[in-house]
Amino acid sequence: MDEVLLYDTTLRDGTQGENITFSADEKIKIALRLDGFGIHYIEGGWPGSNPKDMQFFDLAKRVDFRQARLVAFGSTRKPRIMPEEDTNLKALVASKTPTVAIFGKSWDLHVQKIMNNSLEENLAMIGDSISFLKNKDLEVVYDAEHFFDGYKNNADYALQTLHVAIEGGADFVVLCDTNGGTLPFEIESIIKDVKKAINEIGSTTPGHSSVPLGIHAHNDCGLAVANSITAVQTGAVMVQGTINGYGERCGNADLTSVIPVLSLKMNRPCISELNLEKLKTLSRYVSETANQVPLNTRPFVGKSAFAHKGGIHVSAIMKIPMAYEHMEPSLVGNQRRVLVSDLSGKSNIEFKAKELGIELNGNGYDSQKIVSEIKQLEQQGYQFDVAEGSFRILMEKFTDQFEPLFRLESFRVTIEKDKDGPCSSQATVKISVDGKQEITAAEGYGPVSALDNALRKALDKFYPDLDTMRLVDFKVRVIDGGRGTAAKVRVFIESSDQDEIWSTIGVSEDIIEASWHALADSFQFKLANEKLIRSRKYPAQEELPIFVKP
Ligand SMILES: [Zn+2]
Repeated sequence: MDEVLLYDTTLRDGTQGENITFSADEKIKIALRLDGFGIHYIEGGWPGSNPKDMQFFDLAKRVDFRQARLVAFGSTRKPRIMPEEDTNLKALVASKTPTVAIFGKSWDLHVQKIMNNSLEENLAMIGDSISFLKNKDLEVVYDAEHFFDGYKNNADYALQTLHVAIEGGADFVVLCDTNGGTLPFEIESIIKDVKKAINEIGSTTPGHSSVPLGIHAHNDCGLAVANSITAVQTGAVMVQGTINGYGERCGNADLTSVIPVLSLKMNRPCISELNLEKLKTLSRYVSETANQVPLNTRPFVGKSAFAHKGGIHVSAIMKIPMAYEHMEPSLVGNQRRVLVSDLSGKSNIEFKAKELGIELNGNGYDSQKIVSEIKQLEQQGYQFDVAEGSFRILMEKFTDQFEPLFRLESFRVTIEKDKDGPCSSQATVKISVDGKQEITAAEGYGPVSALDNALRKALDKFYPDLDTMRLVDFKVRVIDGGRGTAAKVRVFIESSDQDEIWSTIGVSEDIIEASWHALADSFQFKLANEKLIRSRKYPAQEELPIFVKP
C-alpha cells in the first residue's frame, strides 16, 4: 500500500490553541523530536506574521534535519499587486525552507463578503503566488482553505481554485475543513468529485494528471481524526494534523490517533514500527513543553487508554489481553495498567505487583491479605486507583521492600496575613538521609507550595536531579463532610517529569498533614525511579543528537 505522508502543524496551527505557546527555542526542540520520530513535513510557523516565527526559521537554518522537510507557511499574495512585491511571499522565500505552504480562498463567500475581492482576482492570486514560488525552486503545498464549505456553496468555483493551483504548479493540494463542520460521508463524496475533476484537469494540462491530495481537518464536531482517515481511504496521501490535537477552538486532527490508526488498523505505512513505539513519549514531550496536563483518556497514548479496573476484566486480560483490549499497548509505547480499588480482587493485586516489580511471596503477605488491608484503607478515605505512586510505596511497605530515600524529622509551616496585605507562607523542613540531617526554609504561594519548595531545597543537597520534576495538579476533597471542619480530607497530587506522570495521595484530618504525605510519597517515588534507572544504567529518556552545521 502507498505510504501516507505525515504533515505536522503543531508549531503553527497547534499554537493557535488556547494556552498553547512555544518559544523559538522550544519549537526547535519539538521539530527535532518530530524529525527523529519520522514525521515527513514539519510546518514551523508563519514567518510573515510574527517575529517569533521569523526567529525560529533563522535558528532552523543552523539545524540539519535527518529526514523531515521543514515548511514555512503563509498566504497567497495580496490583491492587485505582483507576487514579487508581496512581503509575505518574500518572507517565505527568505525562510529558506525546502517546502512552503500557502493557503488561498476556496469559498466565494469569503472572497466576496469577507475579503471584498472579486472572484477572478482571487483565482489570479492563487495561480500567481504558486508559480512565483515554483520559479524559486520550492516545493509548494497549496492549502485550500474552507474547501468543503466552499464546495457545498459553489462547487464550480471551489474547483476552479484548485484548477489554477494545479496549473500554477502546486505539488500537493490540501483540502481544508477549516471550520470543522464537515461529516465523514461528506468528506468521502466531495473528495471523490474532486478526484474526478482533477483527472479532467490533468487530461488538459500536461504533467498535472496526478497531483496528490491532502487533508487538513479541524475537530469542531469531534470528527477530525475520522475525517482524516476517511480522506485517506478515499485517496488523500497527506494528512495534516498536530500532536495531541492541539489547535484553534477544538483543535486539529490528532496525529497521535491518526498515525496508529493508519499503520496498525489500515496497514497504510507512515512511520516505522520502531518509531511508533515512541508515540507516547512524543505526546508527553509535547504536552510537557506546552505546559499542558496530558489527557488521561487520549486514545492510544493516554494513561487510561489501556487501564482496567473491574475484577472480571482483570482476570480475563490476565488470560488473554485481547479479551478487553483492541490492540497491544506496547506497539505505541503505552502500557497495560490494572487499577486497584475496592472493586479489586486478588488478580488485580497480583497483576499490579508484577507490573511494579514487587515480589509478593516469602514476606508473610499473600495477595488476599493485601486486598483486605487496601479495602480497609479505602474505608478510611484512600483511593489507590488514582494514586499509583502511593500504591507502589504501600505495596513495598506491606512486603518489607520499602527503602526510604529520606526521612522526615519535622516540619513547620507558618501563614501570615496583614489586614490589607496578601497572605504569605513559609515552611521549615528537617529531613535526614543516611543519618545526615538537613534543615531548610522556603517561601511559597501557599503553605503546600512553601513545603514543596523547602523539601526540594533540602533534598537537592543529596539528590541534585530533581529539577525536571514538578507538581502538575493538586486536589483536595473533603471525605465525610458531615463532620464540618473536623472532617477528613484527601489530598491528591499529580507530578511529572519528562518521562512519566505519577499520582500520590494523603489522608488526614489536617489538610497540611495530608498534603505532606502526598508530597513526600511523590518525591520518594521519583527518587526510587531515578535510583532504578541508574542501577540499570538505562537512559531516562532518549537523547536526540542535535546536528548543528558548522
Ligand atoms: Zn487549520
